Amino acid sequence: MLDMDISEIVIRYKDTYKILRIVVLLSVIGILVVLIFAYLSSSIIIYSDVIHWVTDTALELVSMITFYIISKASRKIKWNIFALEALLVLIISVILFSFYLFMLIDTIKSYAESSYEPTTTNPFLALVTMFSGLLTFVMYIIERRAYQRLRTEILKVDTKHALIDLAIAIVASIGIVLTAYSRSFVIELTIVMLILYAALQSLIDLSKEAVKSMLGFEVDPNLKLRLISKLSEINREDIKIGEVELRKMGTFYVAKVNVYLDPKITIGEAHRLRKLINVLSKDVSELIYHVDVLFYPMKKYIRSKKKEGRRKQREKSSSKR
Ligand SMILES: [Zn+2]
Repeated sequence: MLDMDISEIVIRYKDTYKILRIVVLLSVIGILVVLIFAYLSSSIIIYSDVIHWVTDTALELVSMITFYIISKASRKIKWNIFALEALLVLIISVILFSFYLFMLIDTIKSYAESSYEPTTTNPFLALVTMFSGLLTFVMYIIERRAYQRLRTEILKVDTKHALIDLAIAIVASIGIVLTAYSRSFVIELTIVMLILYAALQSLIDLSKEAVKSMLGFEVDPNLKLRLISKLSEINREDIKIGEVELRKMGTFYVAKVNVYLDPKITIGEAHRLRKLINVLSKDVSELIYHVDVLFYPMKKYIRSKKKEGRRKQREKSSSKR
């Protein structure tokens, strides 16, 4: 029964990976098409759209790698390699972003020289951002459908993101037409800042992931609390859940759970308990990738509780002084 649960989870991850692979593929098409039009038109709005596609794709790529790894469900993962991949994706995105910023500064400088003439002069360029929006909408439909089936957190986050990007694409398309007809660089720059803001959000998310995976941060306390409360369901007269540790490893979490057992509990029961703890942990978050379950005899639990009690009493008496 428990074995079935685990394989069901693995299938969910595998399917999530497949969806993310489609999303990354569509995003690469997005980058290429928009890049061609950016090059042909030299419109700073279209270049901004390119940079937004690039940062979003980088983020999707890291998610895709993550789900590829967890769908393999093998313990022999070289975490360093994963951190290196995330770092590499981040570095490439930052380099592209810097290039773009230089270009943006250049454009702003050239406004002054060209008596504030905008770079976007062709209203038909709105078709390019509308294409971006259409592609984003297709991704939204795919991800929303997949989320209803798979219920993985990443797809929920991605569908929300796609909706925001769709709104940005619509505003950008209107902005292009307005800029082309009014020849106002203010409208152009406003649209550029809006797209830049969206791209910056993705870049921040990406750097957060990379930094976390390198440093192995202690986890957000909220998730740890949820894990502790979920695992406390197991507590019985002869089984006590002790200390729970949760660490960030790449995009995933690795947990360590101390369990205190009555000596009468058989090895077979302990084995099933270890599986149950793994399933419950994955239920709390799909990103809890591995759980180390350490068993101790119950005596030790009682002793550690007593010690804690004594320490608390000491703290109380010392604070009174
Ligand atoms: Zn975006």
